[in-house]
Amino acid sequence: MNEAEAALERIFGFTSFRPGQRDILEAVFSGENILAVMPTGSGKSLCYQLPAIVRKGLTIVVSPLIALMRDQVQQLQRSGVPAAALNSSNSGEDNAMVERGLRQGRYRLVYVAPERLVRPDAVALLRAAGANALAIDEAHCVSQWGHDFRPEYLGLAQAARAIGDLQLIAVTATADAPTRADIIRKLFAAEPRVFIRSFDRPNLRLAMRRKSDAARQIETAVKRHEGQSGIVYCASRNGVEQLARTLSANGVPALAYHAGLDAEIRSANQDEFLRNDGVVIVATIAFGMGIDKPNVRFVCHADLPQSIEAYYQEIGRAGRDGLPADTLTLFSDSDILLRERQISTSDAPAERKRMERRKLHALIALCETPRCRRQTLLAAFGEASQPCGNCDICEGKWPFFNGVVAAQKVMSAIHRTSGRFFSGHLANLLVGNATEAIRKHGHDLLPTFGVGKELKPAEWRSIFYQLHAENLIAQDPEDRDRWIFTETGRSVLAGKAPLTLRGEITLPSGRKADLRR
Ligand code: ADP
Ligand code: ZN
Repeated sequence: MNEAEAALERIFGFTSFRPGQRDILEAVFSGENILAVMPTGSGKSLCYQLPAIVRKGLTIVVSPLIALMRDQVQQLQRSGVPAAALNSSNSGEDNAMVERGLRQGRYRLVYVAPERLVRPDAVALLRAAGANALAIDEAHCVSQWGHDFRPEYLGLAQAARAIGDLQLIAVTATADAPTRADIIRKLFAAEPRVFIRSFDRPNLRLAMRRKSDAARQIETAVKRHEGQSGIVYCASRNGVEQLARTLSANGVPALAYHAGLDAEIRSANQDEFLRNDGVVIVATIAFGMGIDKPNVRFVCHADLPQSIEAYYQEIGRAGRDGLPADTLTLFSDSDILLRERQISTSDAPAERKRMERRKLHALIALCETPRCRRQTLLAAFGEASQPCGNCDICEGKWPFFNGVVAAQKVMSAIHRTSGRFFSGHLANLLVGNATEAIRKHGHDLLPTFGVGKELKPAEWRSIFYQLHAENLIAQDPEDRDRWIFTETGRSVLAGKAPLTLRGEITLPSGRKADLRR
Protein backbone atom coordinates (compact mmCIF):
# COMPACT_ATOMS: atom_id res chain seq x y z
CA MET A 1 0.00 0.00 0.00
CA ASN A 2 2.92 2.38 0.57
CA GLU A 3 3.93 1.90 -2.99
CA ALA A 4 0.34 2.52 -4.00
CA GLU A 5 0.24 5.82 -2.11
CA ALA A 6 3.44 6.94 -3.75
CA ALA A 7 2.05 6.06 -7.17
CA LEU A 8 -1.19 7.89 -6.36
CA GLU A 9 0.76 11.08 -6.00
CA ARG A 10 3.35 10.49 -8.70
CA ILE A 11 1.09 9.21 -11.47
CA PHE A 12 -2.28 10.74 -10.71
CA GLY A 13 -1.25 13.79 -8.74
CA PHE A 14 -3.75 13.05 -5.94
CA THR A 15 -2.71 13.56 -2.35
CA SER A 16 -5.18 11.19 -0.68
CA PHE A 17 -7.64 8.44 -1.39
CA ARG A 18 -11.31 9.15 -1.83
CA PRO A 19 -13.65 7.49 0.66
CA GLY A 20 -13.87 3.79 -0.05
CA GLN A 21 -10.89 3.58 -2.36
CA ARG A 22 -8.40 2.45 0.29
CA ASP A 23 -10.47 -0.53 1.45
CA ILE A 24 -11.06 -1.69 -2.08
CA LEU A 25 -7.40 -1.28 -3.03
CA GLU A 26 -6.28 -3.30 -0.01
CA ALA A 27 -8.58 -6.13 -1.07
CA VAL A 28 -7.40 -5.92 -4.67
CA PHE A 29 -3.76 -5.99 -3.59
CA SER A 30 -4.42 -9.08 -1.49
CA GLY A 31 -5.71 -10.83 -4.59
CA GLU A 32 -9.41 -11.03 -3.81
CA ASN A 33 -12.19 -10.94 -6.38
CA ILE A 34 -14.15 -7.74 -5.96
CA LEU A 35 -17.51 -6.23 -6.73
CA ALA A 36 -17.48 -2.51 -5.92
CA VAL A 37 -20.73 -0.57 -6.09
CA MET A 38 -19.94 3.11 -5.86
CA PRO A 39 -21.71 6.18 -7.14
CA THR A 40 -20.64 7.80 -10.37
CA GLY A 41 -17.69 10.10 -9.85
CA SER A 42 -16.46 8.38 -6.72
CA GLY A 43 -13.27 7.21 -8.42
CA LYS A 44 -13.86 3.58 -9.34
CA SER A 45 -11.31 3.50 -12.15
CA LEU A 46 -8.46 4.12 -9.74
CA CYS A 47 -9.36 0.87 -7.94
CA TYR A 48 -8.10 -1.19 -10.88
CA GLN A 49 -5.69 1.28 -12.51
CA LEU A 50 -3.49 1.79 -9.49
CA PRO A 51 -2.94 -1.93 -8.74
CA ALA A 52 -2.27 -2.53 -12.43
CA ILE A 53 0.47 0.10 -12.33
CA VAL A 54 2.05 -0.94 -9.05
CA ARG A 55 1.93 -4.71 -9.51
CA LYS A 56 3.56 -6.96 -12.05
CA GLY A 57 1.52 -8.32 -14.92
CA LEU A 58 -1.18 -7.14 -17.26
CA THR A 59 -4.67 -5.97 -16.35
CA ILE A 60 -7.41 -6.22 -18.97
CA VAL A 61 -10.14 -3.59 -18.71
CA VAL A 62 -13.48 -4.05 -20.43
CA SER A 63 -15.90 -1.23 -20.82
CA PRO A 64 -18.94 -0.90 -23.03
CA LEU A 65 -17.93 2.49 -24.28
CA ILE A 66 -15.15 2.98 -26.78
CA ALA A 67 -15.00 6.71 -26.08
CA LEU A 68 -14.46 6.06 -22.40
CA MET A 69 -11.72 3.56 -23.10
CA ARG A 70 -10.02 6.02 -25.43
CA ASP A 71 -10.13 8.77 -22.80
CA GLN A 72 -8.74 6.56 -20.07
CA VAL A 73 -5.96 5.22 -22.27
CA GLN A 74 -4.96 8.74 -23.30
CA GLN A 75 -4.98 9.94 -19.72
CA LEU A 76 -2.83 7.02 -18.62
CA GLN A 77 -0.40 7.46 -21.48
CA ARG A 78 -0.05 11.15 -20.67
CA SER A 79 0.91 10.16 -17.14
CA GLY A 80 3.52 7.80 -18.51
CA VAL A 81 1.65 4.56 -17.88
CA PRO A 82 2.04 1.96 -20.63
CA ALA A 83 -1.56 1.39 -21.65
CA ALA A 84 -3.27 0.53 -24.93
CA ALA A 85 -6.66 -0.31 -26.39
CA LEU A 86 -7.88 -3.05 -28.69
CA ASN A 87 -11.13 -2.24 -30.41
CA SER A 88 -12.85 -1.97 -33.72
CA SER A 89 -12.44 1.79 -33.97
CA ASN A 90 -8.67 1.38 -34.14
CA SER A 91 -7.21 0.87 -37.58
CA GLY A 92 -5.99 -2.66 -38.42
CA GLU A 93 -2.46 -1.31 -38.13
CA ASP A 94 -3.01 0.13 -34.70
CA ASN A 95 -4.45 -3.11 -33.45
CA ALA A 96 -1.54 -5.06 -34.96
CA MET A 97 0.90 -2.77 -33.16
CA VAL A 98 -0.91 -3.24 -29.86
CA GLU A 99 -0.86 -7.01 -30.41
CA ARG A 100 2.90 -6.94 -30.91
CA GLY A 101 3.30 -4.81 -27.79
CA LEU A 102 1.19 -7.26 -25.82
CA ARG A 103 3.33 -10.20 -26.88
CA GLN A 104 6.42 -8.27 -25.79
CA GLY A 105 4.87 -7.56 -22.40
CA ARG A 106 4.97 -3.82 -23.00
CA TYR A 107 1.72 -2.79 -21.29
CA ARG A 108 0.31 -2.71 -17.78
CA LEU A 109 -3.25 -2.10 -18.89
CA VAL A 110 -5.06 -3.06 -22.04
CA TYR A 111 -8.58 -1.84 -22.70
CA VAL A 112 -10.64 -4.27 -24.75
CA ALA A 113 -14.17 -3.98 -26.10
CA PRO A 114 -16.34 -6.76 -24.63
CA GLU A 115 -17.33 -8.19 -28.00
CA ARG A 116 -13.64 -8.54 -28.84
CA LEU A 117 -12.59 -10.06 -25.52
CA VAL A 118 -14.93 -13.01 -25.97
CA ARG A 119 -13.35 -13.90 -29.33
CA PRO A 120 -11.00 -16.93 -29.34
CA ASP A 121 -8.15 -14.98 -31.01
CA ALA A 122 -8.28 -12.31 -28.27
CA VAL A 123 -8.38 -14.98 -25.56
CA ALA A 124 -5.29 -16.64 -27.04
CA LEU A 125 -3.46 -13.33 -27.39
CA LEU A 126 -4.18 -12.18 -23.83
CA ARG A 127 -3.29 -15.57 -22.48
CA ALA A 128 0.06 -15.39 -24.27
CA ALA A 129 0.51 -11.84 -22.95
CA GLY A 130 0.27 -13.13 -19.39
CA ALA A 131 -2.81 -11.21 -18.28
CA ASN A 132 -3.52 -11.70 -14.57
CA ALA A 133 -6.49 -9.47 -13.81
CA LEU A 134 -9.73 -8.47 -15.50
CA ALA A 135 -11.41 -5.21 -14.54
CA ILE A 136 -15.05 -5.05 -15.61
CA ASP A 137 -16.30 -1.49 -15.77
CA GLU A 138 -20.06 -0.84 -15.78
CA ALA A 139 -20.48 -4.40 -14.50
CA HIS A 140 -24.27 -4.00 -14.35
CA CYS A 141 -24.26 -4.42 -18.13
CA VAL A 142 -24.10 -8.18 -17.45
CA SER A 143 -27.53 -8.11 -15.85
CA GLN A 144 -30.68 -8.33 -17.90
CA TRP A 145 -32.29 -6.63 -14.93
CA GLY A 146 -30.13 -3.54 -15.14
CA HIS A 147 -31.05 -0.70 -17.44
CA ASP A 148 -28.20 -1.25 -19.81
CA PHE A 149 -27.86 -4.92 -20.65
CA ARG A 150 -25.04 -5.87 -23.04
CA PRO A 151 -25.25 -9.48 -24.22
CA GLU A 152 -21.47 -9.60 -24.82
CA TYR A 153 -20.98 -9.22 -21.07
CA LEU A 154 -22.46 -12.68 -20.55
CA GLY A 155 -19.36 -14.19 -22.18
CA LEU A 156 -16.87 -12.39 -19.90
CA ALA A 157 -16.72 -14.92 -17.07
CA GLN A 158 -15.92 -17.70 -19.49
CA ALA A 159 -13.34 -15.61 -21.33
CA ALA A 160 -11.66 -14.80 -18.00
CA ARG A 161 -11.39 -18.51 -17.22
CA ALA A 162 -10.07 -19.27 -20.69
CA ILE A 163 -7.39 -16.57 -20.52
CA GLY A 164 -6.16 -17.83 -17.19
CA ASP A 165 -7.06 -17.60 -13.58
CA LEU A 166 -7.80 -13.88 -13.72
CA GLN A 167 -8.54 -11.81 -10.66
CA LEU A 168 -11.92 -10.15 -11.26
CA ILE A 169 -12.47 -6.54 -10.30
CA ALA A 170 -16.02 -5.57 -11.20
CA VAL A 171 -17.18 -2.00 -10.65
CA THR A 172 -20.53 -0.34 -11.20
CA ALA A 173 -22.67 2.52 -10.02
CA THR A 174 -25.82 0.44 -10.23
CA ALA A 175 -27.07 -0.09 -6.77
CA ASP A 176 -30.16 -2.06 -6.21
CA ALA A 177 -29.99 -5.44 -4.51
CA PRO A 178 -31.52 -7.66 -7.23
CA THR A 179 -29.14 -6.24 -9.84
CA ARG A 180 -26.21 -6.78 -7.47
CA ALA A 181 -27.15 -10.40 -6.90
CA ASP A 182 -27.53 -10.91 -10.63
CA ILE A 183 -24.08 -9.44 -11.34
CA ILE A 184 -22.53 -11.78 -8.80
CA ARG A 185 -24.31 -14.79 -10.25
CA LYS A 186 -23.28 -13.99 -13.81
CA LEU A 187 -19.64 -12.98 -13.28
CA PHE A 188 -18.23 -14.80 -10.29
CA ALA A 189 -17.73 -18.50 -9.65
CA ALA A 190 -17.64 -17.88 -5.89
CA GLU A 191 -18.97 -15.05 -3.73
CA PRO A 192 -16.67 -12.00 -4.25
CA ARG A 193 -15.82 -9.32 -1.67
CA VAL A 194 -18.55 -6.74 -2.10
CA PHE A 195 -18.04 -3.04 -1.37
CA ILE A 196 -20.97 -0.66 -1.35
CA ARG A 197 -20.54 3.06 -0.79
CA SER A 198 -23.25 5.47 0.13
CA PHE A 199 -25.14 6.84 -2.80
CA ASP A 200 -25.81 10.13 -1.16
CA ARG A 201 -24.58 13.13 -3.10
CA PRO A 202 -25.40 15.87 -0.61
CA ASN A 203 -24.10 18.65 -2.85
CA LEU A 204 -26.81 17.99 -5.46
CA ARG A 205 -29.98 19.95 -4.90
CA LEU A 206 -32.96 17.85 -5.96
CA ALA A 207 -36.16 19.25 -7.42
CA MET A 208 -38.99 17.85 -9.49
CA ARG A 209 -41.93 19.59 -11.10
CA ARG A 210 -44.91 18.73 -13.15
CA LYS A 211 -44.46 19.88 -16.73
CA SER A 212 -46.49 22.84 -17.87
CA ASP A 213 -44.43 24.56 -20.56
CA ALA A 214 -41.24 22.51 -20.59
CA ALA A 215 -39.19 24.85 -22.78
CA ARG A 216 -40.07 27.84 -20.60
CA GLN A 217 -39.47 25.93 -17.36
CA ILE A 218 -36.08 24.71 -18.53
CA GLU A 219 -35.10 28.13 -19.83
CA THR A 220 -35.87 29.70 -16.46
CA ALA A 221 -33.86 27.04 -14.64
CA VAL A 222 -30.91 27.30 -17.02
CA LYS A 223 -30.80 31.09 -16.87
CA ARG A 224 -30.23 30.91 -13.15
CA HIS A 225 -26.86 29.40 -14.02
CA GLU A 226 -25.54 31.81 -16.59
CA GLY A 227 -21.91 31.20 -17.45
CA GLN A 228 -22.00 27.71 -15.93
CA SER A 229 -21.99 24.34 -17.65
CA GLY A 230 -25.00 22.09 -17.61
CA ILE A 231 -26.78 19.20 -19.27
CA VAL A 232 -30.44 19.10 -20.28
CA TYR A 233 -31.81 15.66 -21.08
CA CYS A 234 -34.72 15.09 -23.44
CA ALA A 235 -36.44 11.80 -24.22
CA SER A 236 -36.24 12.10 -28.00
CA ARG A 237 -33.92 13.39 -30.70
CA ASN A 238 -36.63 15.64 -31.93
CA GLY A 239 -37.09 17.07 -28.47
CA VAL A 240 -33.34 17.69 -28.24
CA GLU A 241 -33.24 19.66 -31.48
CA GLN A 242 -36.28 21.74 -30.68
CA LEU A 243 -35.17 22.61 -27.18
CA ALA A 244 -31.61 23.41 -28.29
CA ARG A 245 -33.06 25.76 -30.90
CA THR A 246 -35.44 27.43 -28.44
CA LEU A 247 -32.73 27.92 -25.86
CA SER A 248 -30.27 29.30 -28.44
CA ALA A 249 -32.92 31.66 -29.76
CA ASN A 250 -33.30 32.94 -26.21
CA GLY A 251 -29.63 33.67 -25.71
CA VAL A 252 -28.52 30.45 -24.03
CA PRO A 253 -25.32 28.93 -25.51
CA ALA A 254 -26.96 25.55 -26.11
CA LEU A 255 -25.66 22.69 -28.27
CA ALA A 256 -27.47 19.52 -29.31
CA TYR A 257 -26.22 15.98 -28.85
CA HIS A 258 -27.90 12.75 -29.95
CA ALA A 259 -26.99 9.59 -31.79
CA GLY A 260 -28.69 10.76 -34.98
CA LEU A 261 -26.33 13.69 -35.46
CA ASP A 262 -23.30 13.55 -37.70
CA ALA A 263 -20.38 12.02 -35.80
CA GLU A 264 -18.34 15.15 -36.45
CA ILE A 265 -20.94 17.56 -35.14
CA ARG A 266 -21.50 15.31 -32.18
CA SER A 267 -17.88 15.20 -31.13
CA ALA A 268 -17.40 18.92 -31.86
CA ASN A 269 -20.33 19.73 -29.57
CA GLN A 270 -19.07 17.40 -26.89
CA ASP A 271 -15.57 18.92 -27.05
CA GLU A 272 -17.03 22.41 -26.86
CA PHE A 273 -18.91 21.40 -23.72
CA LEU A 274 -15.89 19.72 -22.16
CA ARG A 275 -13.45 22.51 -22.94
CA ASN A 276 -15.43 25.62 -22.16
CA ASP A 277 -17.51 26.64 -19.24
CA GLY A 278 -20.93 28.10 -19.76
CA VAL A 279 -22.05 25.69 -22.49
CA VAL A 280 -25.38 23.92 -22.07
CA ILE A 281 -25.61 20.60 -23.82
CA VAL A 282 -29.11 19.44 -24.75
CA ALA A 283 -28.97 15.70 -25.21
CA THR A 284 -30.61 12.32 -25.27
CA ILE A 285 -29.33 9.72 -22.83
CA ALA A 286 -26.70 8.90 -25.47
CA PHE A 287 -24.72 11.68 -23.80
CA GLY A 288 -22.89 11.31 -20.57
CA MET A 289 -21.61 7.81 -19.87
CA GLY A 290 -17.91 8.26 -19.39
CA ILE A 291 -18.05 12.06 -19.54
CA ASP A 292 -15.71 13.35 -16.89
CA LYS A 293 -16.32 17.06 -16.40
CA PRO A 294 -16.09 17.90 -12.73
CA ASN A 295 -17.76 21.32 -12.78
CA VAL A 296 -21.13 20.58 -14.39
CA ARG A 297 -23.31 22.89 -12.28
CA PHE A 298 -26.76 21.67 -13.27
CA VAL A 299 -28.60 18.77 -14.86
CA CYS A 300 -32.20 19.15 -16.01
CA HIS A 301 -34.63 16.62 -17.38
CA ALA A 302 -37.11 18.11 -19.82
CA ASP A 303 -38.84 14.70 -19.81
CA LEU A 304 -39.18 11.97 -17.22
CA PRO A 305 -36.05 9.74 -17.18
CA GLN A 306 -36.39 6.03 -17.94
CA SER A 307 -36.10 4.71 -14.41
CA ILE A 308 -34.95 5.65 -10.95
CA GLU A 309 -31.47 4.36 -11.72
CA ALA A 310 -31.24 6.32 -14.93
CA TYR A 311 -32.37 9.41 -12.99
CA TYR A 312 -29.70 8.91 -10.37
CA GLN A 313 -27.00 8.33 -12.93
CA GLU A 314 -27.97 11.34 -15.00
CA ILE A 315 -28.22 13.86 -12.16
CA GLY A 316 -24.98 12.35 -10.85
CA ARG A 317 -23.11 14.00 -13.71
CA ALA A 318 -23.52 17.33 -11.94
CA GLY A 319 -21.26 18.51 -9.15
CA ARG A 320 -18.59 15.85 -9.35
CA ASP A 321 -16.19 18.39 -7.87
CA GLY A 322 -18.25 18.26 -4.68
CA LEU A 323 -19.43 21.88 -4.97
CA PRO A 324 -23.15 22.71 -4.94
CA ALA A 325 -25.01 21.76 -8.11
CA ASP A 326 -28.62 22.02 -9.11
CA THR A 327 -31.04 19.57 -10.67
CA LEU A 328 -34.56 19.86 -11.98
CA THR A 329 -36.65 17.02 -13.37
CA LEU A 330 -39.90 17.66 -15.20
CA PHE A 331 -42.53 14.96 -15.54
CA SER A 332 -46.01 14.59 -16.92
CA ASP A 333 -48.72 12.00 -17.19
CA SER A 334 -48.02 11.56 -20.86
CA ASP A 335 -44.33 10.89 -20.11
CA ILE A 336 -45.42 8.19 -17.70
CA LEU A 337 -47.87 6.67 -20.17
CA LEU A 338 -45.29 6.75 -22.94
CA ARG A 339 -42.75 4.96 -20.82
CA GLU A 340 -45.31 2.42 -19.66
CA ARG A 341 -46.22 1.75 -23.27
CA GLN A 342 -42.54 1.37 -24.20
CA ILE A 343 -42.18 -1.28 -21.53
CA SER A 344 -45.38 -3.13 -22.43
CA THR A 345 -44.71 -3.24 -26.14
CA SER A 346 -41.02 -4.16 -25.95
CA ASP A 347 -40.21 -7.78 -26.68
CA ALA A 348 -38.30 -8.23 -23.42
CA PRO A 349 -39.16 -11.31 -21.32
CA ALA A 350 -41.96 -10.87 -18.77
CA GLU A 351 -39.55 -10.94 -15.85
CA ARG A 352 -37.54 -8.06 -17.26
CA LYS A 353 -40.65 -6.04 -18.02
CA ARG A 354 -41.73 -6.43 -14.43
CA MET A 355 -38.33 -5.21 -13.28
CA GLU A 356 -38.50 -2.19 -15.57
CA ARG A 357 -41.97 -1.37 -14.33
CA ARG A 358 -40.76 -1.56 -10.77
CA LYS A 359 -37.94 0.90 -11.51
CA LEU A 360 -40.31 3.20 -13.34
CA HIS A 361 -42.79 3.17 -10.47
CA ALA A 362 -40.03 3.91 -8.01
CA LEU A 363 -39.22 6.98 -10.08
CA ILE A 364 -42.84 8.07 -10.32
CA ALA A 365 -43.14 7.67 -6.57
CA LEU A 366 -40.12 9.94 -6.25
CA CYS A 367 -41.78 12.54 -8.47
CA GLU A 368 -44.92 12.44 -6.37
CA THR A 369 -43.52 11.87 -2.92
CA PRO A 370 -44.73 14.06 -0.06
CA ARG A 371 -41.44 13.38 1.71
CA CYS A 372 -37.84 14.60 1.33
CA ARG A 373 -36.70 13.66 -2.19
CA ARG A 374 -33.29 12.50 -1.08
CA GLN A 375 -34.75 10.31 1.64
CA THR A 376 -37.07 8.75 -0.94
CA LEU A 377 -34.29 8.34 -3.50
CA LEU A 378 -31.87 6.76 -1.06
CA ALA A 379 -34.59 4.52 0.34
CA ALA A 380 -35.11 3.20 -3.18
CA PHE A 381 -31.44 2.15 -3.09
CA GLY A 382 -31.84 0.60 0.34
CA GLU A 383 -30.32 3.44 2.39
CA ALA A 384 -32.00 5.04 5.38
CA SER A 385 -31.47 8.78 5.91
CA GLN A 386 -32.84 11.97 7.47
CA PRO A 387 -34.60 14.82 5.65
CA CYS A 388 -31.88 16.60 3.70
CA GLY A 389 -32.72 20.29 3.70
CA ASN A 390 -31.51 20.48 0.09
CA CYS A 391 -34.54 19.54 -2.00
CA ASP A 392 -37.70 21.33 -3.10
CA ILE A 393 -39.76 19.47 -0.51
CA CYS A 394 -37.47 20.16 2.44
CA GLU A 395 -37.37 23.78 1.32
CA GLY A 396 -41.13 23.91 1.82
CA LYS A 397 -42.08 24.68 -1.77
CA TRP A 398 -45.22 22.60 -1.40
CA PRO A 399 -48.18 22.84 0.97
CA PHE A 400 -49.42 19.76 2.78
CA PHE A 401 -52.86 18.59 3.76
CA ASN A 402 -54.52 15.92 5.83
CA GLY A 403 -54.72 13.06 3.36
CA VAL A 404 -56.60 10.41 5.32
CA VAL A 405 -59.93 10.71 3.48
CA ALA A 406 -58.31 10.90 0.04
CA ALA A 407 -56.19 7.84 0.86
CA GLN A 408 -59.24 5.93 2.04
CA LYS A 409 -61.02 6.68 -1.23
CA VAL A 410 -58.10 5.50 -3.35
CA MET A 411 -57.65 2.40 -1.24
CA SER A 412 -61.30 1.57 -1.43
CA ALA A 413 -61.07 1.86 -5.22
CA ILE A 414 -58.07 -0.48 -5.17
CA HIS A 415 -59.92 -2.92 -2.94
CA ARG A 416 -63.08 -2.92 -5.06
CA THR A 417 -61.04 -3.67 -8.18
CA SER A 418 -59.06 -6.50 -6.53
CA GLY A 419 -55.80 -4.55 -6.75
CA ARG A 420 -55.62 -5.26 -10.45
CA PHE A 421 -55.98 -1.73 -11.79
CA PHE A 422 -53.66 1.15 -12.04
CA SER A 423 -53.65 4.87 -11.26
CA GLY A 424 -55.34 5.99 -14.49
CA HIS A 425 -58.22 3.54 -14.22
CA LEU A 426 -58.66 4.21 -10.50
CA ALA A 427 -58.74 7.95 -11.14
CA ASN A 428 -61.51 7.51 -13.71
CA LEU A 429 -63.39 5.33 -11.28
CA LEU A 430 -63.14 7.90 -8.49
CA VAL A 431 -64.22 10.90 -10.56
CA GLY A 432 -67.01 8.88 -12.18
CA ASN A 433 -65.61 8.79 -15.70
CA ALA A 434 -67.45 5.94 -17.43
CA THR A 435 -64.73 5.11 -19.93
CA GLU A 436 -64.90 2.01 -22.08
CA ALA A 437 -62.56 0.14 -19.72
CA ILE A 438 -64.63 1.19 -16.69
CA ARG A 439 -67.83 -0.06 -18.31
CA LYS A 440 -66.24 -3.22 -19.64
CA HIS A 441 -65.32 -4.27 -16.11
CA GLY A 442 -68.62 -3.10 -14.68
CA HIS A 443 -66.80 -0.61 -12.48
CA ASP A 444 -69.43 2.05 -13.10
CA LEU A 445 -71.67 -0.07 -10.89
CA LEU A 446 -69.32 -0.03 -7.89
CA PRO A 447 -70.24 2.08 -4.85
CA THR A 448 -66.85 3.81 -5.23
CA PHE A 449 -67.76 5.07 -8.70
CA GLY A 450 -67.83 8.87 -8.61
CA VAL A 451 -67.06 9.31 -4.89
CA GLY A 452 -64.06 11.51 -5.76
CA LYS A 453 -65.61 14.19 -7.94
CA GLU A 454 -63.95 16.92 -5.86
CA LEU A 455 -60.60 16.26 -7.55
CA LYS A 456 -59.37 15.91 -11.10
CA PRO A 457 -58.08 12.59 -12.43
CA ALA A 458 -54.49 13.94 -12.46
CA GLU A 459 -54.82 14.76 -8.77
CA TRP A 460 -56.06 11.27 -7.96
CA ARG A 461 -53.21 9.77 -9.94
CA SER A 462 -50.79 11.86 -7.94
CA ILE A 463 -52.36 10.72 -4.68
CA PHE A 464 -52.11 7.11 -5.82
CA TYR A 465 -48.37 7.55 -6.35
CA GLN A 466 -47.98 9.37 -3.06
CA LEU A 467 -49.55 6.38 -1.32
CA HIS A 468 -47.04 4.20 -3.09
CA ALA A 469 -44.17 6.52 -2.14
CA GLU A 470 -45.38 6.52 1.46
CA ASN A 471 -45.56 2.73 1.45
CA LEU A 472 -49.28 2.50 2.14
CA ILE A 473 -49.74 0.41 -0.94
CA ALA A 474 -47.21 -1.87 -2.57
CA GLN A 475 -46.89 -4.34 -5.38
CA ASP A 476 -47.63 -7.87 -4.23
CA PRO A 477 -44.20 -9.53 -4.09
CA GLU A 478 -45.75 -12.79 -5.30
CA ASP A 479 -47.66 -11.16 -8.10
CA ARG A 480 -46.25 -7.83 -9.16
CA ASP A 481 -49.27 -6.91 -11.23
CA ARG A 482 -51.40 -6.64 -8.12
CA TRP A 483 -51.57 -3.84 -5.55
CA ILE A 484 -51.84 -4.75 -1.90
CA PHE A 485 -52.12 -2.73 1.32
CA THR A 486 -49.21 -2.60 3.70
CA GLU A 487 -49.63 -2.57 7.44
CA THR A 488 -49.32 1.24 7.48
CA GLY A 489 -51.89 1.36 4.70
CA ARG A 490 -54.34 -0.72 6.69
CA SER A 491 -53.95 1.57 9.72
CA VAL A 492 -54.74 4.64 7.63
CA LEU A 493 -57.66 2.84 6.03
CA ALA A 494 -59.00 2.03 9.49
CA GLY A 495 -58.58 5.68 10.51
CA LYS A 496 -55.98 4.71 13.13
CA ALA A 497 -52.98 6.49 11.65
CA PRO A 498 -52.51 10.05 10.39
CA LEU A 499 -51.38 10.80 6.86
CA THR A 500 -50.02 13.97 5.34
CA LEU A 501 -50.06 14.35 1.60
CA ARG A 502 -48.66 16.96 -0.68
CA GLY A 503 -51.08 19.47 -2.12
CA GLU A 504 -50.99 22.21 -4.70
CA ILE A 505 -50.02 20.16 -7.66
CA THR A 506 -49.07 22.63 -10.35
CA LEU A 507 -51.48 21.66 -13.06
CA PRO A 508 -50.95 22.47 -16.73
CA SER A 509 -53.74 25.06 -16.60
CA GLY A 510 -51.87 26.88 -13.86
CA ARG A 511 -54.82 26.28 -11.53
CA LYS A 512 -53.94 25.35 -7.99
CA ALA A 513 -55.61 22.24 -6.69
CA ASP A 514 -57.41 22.77 -3.42
CA LEU A 515 -57.16 19.39 -1.83
CA ARG A 516 -58.40 20.31 1.61
CA ARG A 517 -62.02 19.54 0.87
P1 ADP B 1 -16.31 6.71 -11.56
O1 ADP B 1 -15.77 5.69 -12.56
O2 ADP B 1 -16.52 6.16 -10.20
O3 ADP B 1 -17.51 7.46 -12.07
P2 ADP B 1 -13.82 7.97 -12.05
O4 ADP B 1 -12.96 6.80 -11.80
O5 ADP B 1 -14.04 8.40 -13.47
O6 ADP B 1 -15.22 7.79 -11.35
O7 ADP B 1 -13.27 9.19 -11.21
C1 ADP B 1 -13.98 10.40 -11.15
C2 ADP B 1 -13.02 11.56 -11.00
O8 ADP B 1 -12.41 11.53 -9.71
C3 ADP B 1 -11.89 11.53 -11.99
O9 ADP B 1 -11.70 12.85 -12.45
C4 ADP B 1 -10.71 11.03 -11.20
O10 ADP B 1 -9.51 11.47 -11.74
C5 ADP B 1 -11.00 11.63 -9.83
N1 ADP B 1 -10.36 10.89 -8.71
C6 ADP B 1 -10.33 9.55 -8.53
N2 ADP B 1 -9.68 9.23 -7.39
C7 ADP B 1 -9.28 10.40 -6.83
C8 ADP B 1 -8.55 10.74 -5.64
N3 ADP B 1 -8.11 9.81 -4.78
N4 ADP B 1 -8.34 12.05 -5.39
C9 ADP B 1 -8.78 13.00 -6.24
N5 ADP B 1 -9.46 12.75 -7.38
C10 ADP B 1 -9.73 11.46 -7.67
ZN1 ZN C 1 -34.88 16.87 1.26
